[in-house]
Amino acid sequence: MSITMHELMRPVLDGLDVPTDLLVAGAWHRGSDGNRIDVRDPASGAVLASVADAGVRDAQAAVDAAAAAAAGWAATAPRARAELLQRAFTLMHERSEELALLISLENGKSLADARSEVTYAAEFFRWYGEESVRLRGQVGRSPSGANRLVVTHQPVGISVLITPWNFPAAMATRKIAPALAAGCTAILKPATETPLTALAVAALLQEAGLPPGVLNVVTTTRPGPVVETMLTDPRTRMLSFTGSTQIGRRLLRTAADQVIKCGMELGGNAPFVVLADADVDAAVEGAMVAKMRNGGQACTAANRFFVHHAVHDTFVEGLVAQMAAVRVGPGSDESTQCGPLINEDAVRKVDELVRDALDRGARAVLGGERPGDGCFYPPTVLVDVPPDARLLHEEIFGPVAPVVRFEREEEMLAMVNDTEYGLVSYLYTGDLGRGLRLAEGIESGMVGLNRGLVSDPAAPFGGTKQSGLGREGSTEGLLEFMETQYIATSW
Ligand code: NAP
Repeated sequence: MSITMHELMRPVLDGLDVPTDLLVAGAWHRGSDGNRIDVRDPASGAVLASVADAGVRDAQAAVDAAAAAAAGWAATAPRARAELLQRAFTLMHERSEELALLISLENGKSLADARSEVTYAAEFFRWYGEESVRLRGQVGRSPSGANRLVVTHQPVGISVLITPWNFPAAMATRKIAPALAAGCTAILKPATETPLTALAVAALLQEAGLPPGVLNVVTTTRPGPVVETMLTDPRTRMLSFTGSTQIGRRLLRTAADQVIKCGMELGGNAPFVVLADADVDAAVEGAMVAKMRNGGQACTAANRFFVHHAVHDTFVEGLVAQMAAVRVGPGSDESTQCGPLINEDAVRKVDELVRDALDRGARAVLGGERPGDGCFYPPTVLVDVPPDARLLHEEIFGPVAPVVRFEREEEMLAMVNDTEYGLVSYLYTGDLGRGLRLAEGIESGMVGLNRGLVSDPAAPFGGTKQSGLGREGSTEGLLEFMETQYIATSW
């Protein structure tokens, strides 16, 4: 353990190993130039710990380590890989309270949200442990009858995994688990705001018996050159990225040079639609989940509410009542329901988007005012939001619900699809058939039909349009880390 460990970390450290150095080839290293990164609690600004700041030499060493371990790991029996992942699942549950507190401290989310995240994150280890022994190829005859078609799946190879700060455990395990299950070795680069959770998860995997070099972890304040070093190494074969569309586009360009396989989980602009025949109370409950999980800082967060005029006022009244009752405070305080945003830039951005909407004619029926310095922003509901307001087109990433009234289904569908994003949509209706028909007309990879939460390790998570490429979770998530090989033969 190195340099600063703030007193706030004591309850975590009593039950959890939280390394602060780089994991390369199974050992913890301080980094080639000795620089450190301060990790802060967004609620107070206190420095929680400092972690190693990797440079390009460390990135190179991580690729070397992943390459050295690749053949051995690919040859490891699926059952052995499954058992390791199962042990990691068990360890995460054993340390769930400490992990939840760690997430809450470095990310700011409420303890309740952090506990849900640990459960969700651990589930990827269990799901992919189970999947790794179930993978099947195919054997068939060619239509001409001339030969046989043998189709198998091989690990894609060295994989670079890049994760954001908003779900520091789940976004890491959603990549690590399928990569390892597929037989790939990997390098994880977690977000600079929240590296401690990723390092703690890596330590758990080591405790579960992970061989050296199979997973390497590199924390850095220089993601550009460090990631470029990894992606331009010809031995790297996969990029799995979760983050903003803006950075995703840039990485796709770099990955193109080596024609690296890419899984991209990017930004969202989720519509939340309430039709006239919806159960409005259920829609309000679902809206609270879709909007307020992680204080609105989720790619799946409901970003725009389209409510039929027949139920508009009832829905807004219910939503305002629930949003007004949300207790805002430091995430690690047991009574908190909504923690701070990740940093001051995030608060400035949310405030700017709300000001823009108000300037264009929207009305704040709850909140809408930044309370002063610090990273907190109050739950906010805006109505009469005009179509050109920026927050209907950009990710808000905060506890702000802009509501738009609509009358006709076609008008609503046009507004829903008027975005470059296509990650998830939510739709509330009392008519299942109508809901399914409308879901098919919505351009998004996932639809929550009378549900405010879609995430599930057994489901294919991912977006269309500029929300991404590929899927995470489910069997599809495993195949992302595999290449299909076809053998033509005769017998
Ligand atoms: P971000 O700024 O794009 O960062 C994501 C990751 O990319 C971080 O690890 C970041 O490192 C790294 N990065 C930044 N610049 C880079 C560069 N030039 N080269 C290589 N890597 C670079 O996103 P974020 O603010 O952390 O996360 C929020 C975004 O993620 C939102 O847009 C959200 O919708 C999206 N998201 C999507 C999903 C999904 O499944 N579709 C899930 C969660 C979040 P640093 O931390 O050092 O900047």
